[in-house]
Amino acid sequence: MKRILISGGAGFIGSHLCERLLGEGNDVICLDNYFTGHKSNIRHLLAHPNFEVVRHDIIYPYTAEVEEIYNLACPASPIYYQHDPIKTTQTSVLGALNMLGMAKYNRGKILQASTSEVYGDPLIHPQKEEYWGHVNPLGVRSCYDEGKRCAESLVMSYHRQHGVRTKIVRIFNTYGPKMDINDGRVVSNFIVQALRGEDITIYGDGNQTRSFQYIDDLVEGMIRLMDDTPDDFTGPVNIGNPHEFTIGELAREVIELTGSRSQIVHLPLPEDDPRQRQPDITLARQMLGNWEPTVQLREGLRKTIGYFEEVLTRGGVRR
Ligand code: NAD
Ligand code: UDP
Repeated sequence: MKRILISGGAGFIGSHLCERLLGEGNDVICLDNYFTGHKSNIRHLLAHPNFEVVRHDIIYPYTAEVEEIYNLACPASPIYYQHDPIKTTQTSVLGALNMLGMAKYNRGKILQASTSEVYGDPLIHPQKEEYWGHVNPLGVRSCYDEGKRCAESLVMSYHRQHGVRTKIVRIFNTYGPKMDINDGRVVSNFIVQALRGEDITIYGDGNQTRSFQYIDDLVEGMIRLMDDTPDDFTGPVNIGNPHEFTIGELAREVIELTGSRSQIVHLPLPEDDPRQRQPDITLARQMLGNWEPTVQLREGLRKTIGYFEEVLTRGGVRR
């Protein structure tokens, strides 16, 4: 049994990770300020004897005696991270400093949740870890992109300067049950719109691409990176599903799977919206024991549609 802290543990990815790590017999502390996370995501875990929840904002220091830290706290949806951009950068940078400080104090291991956004609007396709990216440092997405890039830099500095065992995962677009109904990201938006019979809102012409990964594949990859790689291996490692789709294709797939009569409408493309995104996962395959995404888009969408159908049956109220 390990003592593991998960910042952002009440969020979409964090709550799946809490569940999985508890299920494997670990002692888990979930740290969250509930900005985009929800108690309902972890309510079913509260009675578990090895689970603790702490309401805390990671821009302020926090210490607990833990062996491993998964630093996930940060809003991930463009709508939410642009809502208070200064706070987003504080969370990314000060939050990373505080979590790295705790890892150093404990002589523990830390995994930093980074993002494909560090590649910006990429000029190299698919994106390999060696690519330094093409980020607009002044744009509306920069609070998140540059915050996450600075966090990666801090992780490497703690590793080099203090010998902290660190891992960086660059997560590509991930979806699945427990996403917030109002999250604003494309998969949840399209499914909820389709189930409600509302217009499906494609931003721009819909020819921009993303590569969508189902949550279970991500959780598996993150745990393998933390547990199964040598201490001197820091990453970064791309974790994502390399199958690339246009946003228009995603909309049509969701309409077909839900049997919805929703119409597609086109709205303006947000500023600095990346045109294409696809992970090169060669390194993940090599370092994470032949890790591969196992859930393809149709299957993952079906599971996610089932989840949102249930939430909508309860009038949008989470259990
Ligand atoms: P999410 O918004 O569902 O979860 C983020 C969690 O962090 C929420 O529970 C929120 O309340 C909490 N949080 C935010 N600011 C905080 C603060 N200052 N102090 C404490 N808690 C705070 O998003 P998610 O999709 O679960 O993303 C989790 C992590 O993974 C983020 O760091 C995100 O950048 C990264 N990521 C996610 C994706 C994706 O596709 N889901 C892609 C790339 C990177
Ligand atoms: N998008 C869309 N309609 C929506 C939400 C998003 O067309 O209702 C587009 C968005 O412009 C982007 C892509 O879908 O091109 C993915 O957006 P998301 O916010 O999910 O994540 P991103 O990868 O941009 O961070």
